[in-house]
Amino acid sequence: MTNKYMYFVANWKMYGDLKSLKSLDKVIRFSKSNQNYKHKIIYCPPNTLLYPFINKVKKSTISIGAQNCHTHESYGPFTGSVSSKMIKSIGAKFVIIGHSENRSYGDTDAVINKKIKSSINNGLKVIFCFGETLNQRKKKLTNNVLFNQIKKGIFSIKKKQNIIFAYEPIWSIGTGAVLKKSDLEMNVRFIKNKLKTKLKIKNPKVIYGGSVNPKNIKNLKEINNIDGFLIGGASLDPKKFIDIVKKTFI
Ligand code: PEP
Repeated sequence: MTNKYMYFVANWKMYGDLKSLKSLDKVIRFSKSNQNYKHKIIYCPPNTLLYPFINKVKKSTISIGAQNCHTHESYGPFTGSVSSKMIKSIGAKFVIIGHSENRSYGDTDAVINKKIKSSINNGLKVIFCFGETLNQRKKKLTNNVLFNQIKKGIFSIKKKQNIIFAYEPIWSIGTGAVLKKSDLEMNVRFIKNKLKTKLKIKNPKVIYGGSVNPKNIKNLKEINNIDGFLIGGASLDPKKFIDIVKKTFI
């Protein structure tokens, strides 16, 4: 059994409605009755569900995060957008920034850097996603791509301790394809090493995301130095999500 503190981030993407609130009951119960597992569960529902989710988990150790925010720090004429200030004001603690789905809609490294700055300035913790495409991997560009994304994303950010680094190979997201353990371990080692030596972050937290499920978690939890998991599809089913957390510790 691992004695390490582990993060479990549930990314619900554009799924869920008010009826989905019920699915949190099991997870809250599980979290309360398994305090011996040192863990932090962070639910990131769509914006429409942020406030009801925050109310629902009030008496538990579960935290709530948003899935994205605008670059602007406060309020402004940005139709359809939500700022980190607004997210923080309703009681959310985290925000995901740099998810590959948002990068594919135009979030550049510079935009991501502004979003991270705005979030940290407004007191949110950031789950910062980065990862390589399959093509980049095939061309053996992974290390360059990862270091570049990380470096540019956190450029001139002061409170770097408030960032959880989420390594998500893009080709693994929602596909069922996962790197073999030794390769994943090598990439996590590379990321941690750069965060410590080049970017001077003490004890950085690195989590993995990409098709994590109750079957492959047995293998993934063995990745040396991993601090947790970002879970998309499987997090929509509370049974699967709890199974992933449980199997990480047993
Ligand atoms: C994600 O969207 O960040 C993710 C990891 O999704 P999935 O688990 O479905 O691959």
